[in-house]
Amino acid sequence: MIYQWSYSRLKTYEGCPKQAFFRYVQKIKEPPVKAMERGKEIHKICEDYIRGRDIVLTGTLKDFEDGLNMLKENYRKGHVLCEGDWAWDKDWNKTDWFGYDTWGRAKVDAFYHDDSTNEATVIDFKTGRYEGNQEGHREQCELYASICLLRYPELEKITTEMWYLDHNKIDRYEYDKNTIENKRKKITERAVIMTTAEDFPAKPDRWKCRWCYFGKQGLCEEAIK
Ligand code: SF4
Repeated sequence: MIYQWSYSRLKTYEGCPKQAFFRYVQKIKEPPVKAMERGKEIHKICEDYIRGRDIVLTGTLKDFEDGLNMLKENYRKGHVLCEGDWAWDKDWNKTDWFGYDTWGRAKVDAFYHDDSTNEATVIDFKTGRYEGNQEGHREQCELYASICLLRYPELEKITTEMWYLDHNKIDRYEYDKNTIENKRKKITERAVIMTTAEDFPAKPDRWKCRWCYFGKQGLCEEAIK
């Protein structure tokens, strides 16, 4: 079984349960993907910059200099959390990342909350493709908003922002307690299906199988070649 979920696990499972089985039940190691390694490096640069380390922004990151400076300034004042590890139990209560009751996990790139207001902003840094990912990213924003509004019950509004670092674009969504309730219910239902599943059938798809490590290694009999 897959006992813990995150948004990316959920997307993998829904895309092909068998791929999720190889990845999260059998825990078969996959070789690093260049684009992901690059993404991690860029995230680290942003994090270090916000934390006030001696970093010079280059390339497309220069387009986000103002925003990163705002986060840096507020980090110094204690209003920004960077690279937060947020975990929750089955009732969406806060718990430890590796707790005995951990059910869900999310990494939050930057969380901006000035205690003098009842609003907050969650920022997610994205590298790579912009087109075609918006639907998934919007769902990710709903997940962030769900967690924030439960963790900080005093908040009345959450703004979630996707910063597309390679494209000089920001997508922004706003939520409050009423608008998020239904969305939380829906993602909870999906997560329950994944974390209680005992069968992991293959869902072959020409495009997905083409890039699937487990198919390429001959581990998946249903792979479309
Ligand atoms: S090769 Fe295709 S069917 Fe098999 S696990 Fe990968 S994505 Fe799923």
